[in-house]
Amino acid sequence: MKCVIVSNRLPVTVVEKDGKMEFARSSGGLATGLDSLKVPGEKHWLGWAGWQAVPAERRKIRARLKKLGLYPVFLTPEHIHNYYEGYSNSTLWPLCHYFLNYMSCNKDYWRSYCEVNELFCREAMKIIEPGDQVWIHDYQLMLLPGMIRARCPEVSIGYFHHIPFPSYEMFRYLPEREEILRGLLGADLIGFHVHNYMRHFISTVYRVLGMECRLDEVILDNRAVRIDAFPMGINYDLYHGVSDLPDVCEKADELRRLAGDSKIVLSVDRLDYSKGLLPRLEAYASFLKNHPEYREKVTMIMIVVPSRDKVDIYAGLKTRIDELVGAINGAHATVNWNPVHYFYRCFDFEELAAVYSIADIALVTPIRDGMNLVAKEYLAAKRDKPGVLILSEMAGAAADLDQAISVNPADRWQIEEALLKALKMTVKQQKNALAVMQQSLARKNVACWANDFMGELRQVTERNLEMN
Ligand code: UDP
Repeated sequence: MKCVIVSNRLPVTVVEKDGKMEFARSSGGLATGLDSLKVPGEKHWLGWAGWQAVPAERRKIRARLKKLGLYPVFLTPEHIHNYYEGYSNSTLWPLCHYFLNYMSCNKDYWRSYCEVNELFCREAMKIIEPGDQVWIHDYQLMLLPGMIRARCPEVSIGYFHHIPFPSYEMFRYLPEREEILRGLLGADLIGFHVHNYMRHFISTVYRVLGMECRLDEVILDNRAVRIDAFPMGINYDLYHGVSDLPDVCEKADELRRLAGDSKIVLSVDRLDYSKGLLPRLEAYASFLKNHPEYREKVTMIMIVVPSRDKVDIYAGLKTRIDELVGAINGAHATVNWNPVHYFYRCFDFEELAAVYSIADIALVTPIRDGMNLVAKEYLAAKRDKPGVLILSEMAGAAADLDQAISVNPADRWQIEEALLKALKMTVKQQKNALAVMQQSLARKNVACWANDFMGELRQVTERNLEMN
C-alpha cells in the first residue's frame, strides 16, 4: 500500500550548481509534517514543479525528481494564468476569504481549472493502485477527489482544505458550487483547520445538494464522507531550538540594531488583502498619533513577502502599503528613529527565526486566515524570552491560542488598546501566557497533525469498505 500526496506545488527547490540544475526537497511546514508521516508503505508526492519545461527536458526532470519520491505535473502558461491565477486565486481564494467584491467569475478560468484537475488525475492514476491512500491538498484541487474516485473506487482518499471554508450564504455565489462540492465528496475524509469551517461545509452540502448530513458526516448511497477539524501545527522543535544557532544570533543582533532601544512590533505576512495589512498600518498610525509618549519607544518591523503580484488587486495593495508606510515614516520619523522598517521580500528561515526571537510583540491581524502559522512560529521561537502575541479572532490559529491578546482586525481602536496592553504587560505575565501556548504547540505539532489525519482516514476507509 502506497501513500500518494497530491498538492498544487511540489516541495522542491531548484538550485544551480556548477552550471547544472540540482533539485532539493524543500522543508516548508507541510513538507516537514508529511516527512514525519508514519505510513506502512512508500510515500510519493505529485504536484506542479513550479517552472515550465520544454517537452524535451521533461523526461530528464521526471527521472531526477523520482529519486526524491516526487512526480511532476507540467503546466502551460495558459494554465498558470487561468487555473492558478484565475480560478484558484481570483475566484476561490476571495470567495473562501469573504471578499466577494474581489471575486472574478470567468468561464475560461473554470474550463482551465477542470482541465488541470483532469491532468493531475491522469498523472496520479499512473501511480495509484487499488488499496493505496491518496491525500489531496487544498483549494486548487477540489475536483480531484471525485475524479480519482470515479476511476479507482477502491482507493482511500483524504482531502485537506488549508484555507477557510465560508458560510453557505457566501459559497452559494459560486456558479460552479455543485460541481465543486461533488468533487470534494469523492473523498472518504475531508479535513479543515477549525470546527467553524467544518460546520459551514456541512450546511453548504445540505443546502446546495440536499444530501443527508449528520454532525460530522455526509451520507452517500454506498459510503459516508467524514468531515473533521485538524488544526495544523508547526515543527515546534525546529523553531524552539533555533535561536541558539550562531547565524541566527548574528542576524538577530543586526536587526536589533535597526530598532535601537525601542520595543519591536513585528508584522510578517505574504502580500494579501486577507492579511489585514492596511487596517493594521492604520491602527499603528493612530497609535503613534494618539500616544505620543511611545514615539521613539516603539518600532515596527514589517515584512511583506511578494505574492501573486501579477494579479491587479495585489499590485494595487502593494502600492497602498508603500504609500501608507511612507506616510507614517514621513509624519513621525526623527533623526534617530524610523517608526516602520519595511522589507518587501521573503526572509529565509534563519532571518525569520532571528526576527521572531527579538520581537517584543507580534501583531497578527488577518481579516480572514485559514490558520496562520506565523503566529505559532513566533511563540515557539520566543523560547523562555518574554513576548506578546496580538492575534486576530478571525485567524484559525485563534482557536488554539487562547492566551494571546485577541482583537477584531477591523477595529482600529481595539488594536491600539491591544498594543498599549501588550507594552504594559509585565515579564511574568508575558512568560506565563507564552508557557501555556508553547506547551500546547509542542504537543500538537505538525507531525501529530499529519498522523492524526491519516489515522482517521484509515478508520473511515475501513468502515466504508465494510458498508459495501
Ligand atoms: N515565511 C517565510 N519567510 C517570510 C515570511 C513568512 O518563510 O519572510 C513563512 C513562514 O515561516 C510561514 C509561512 O511563510 O511558515 C506563512 O504561513 P501562514 O500560515 O502564516 O500564511 P500563508 O502565507 O500560508 O497564508
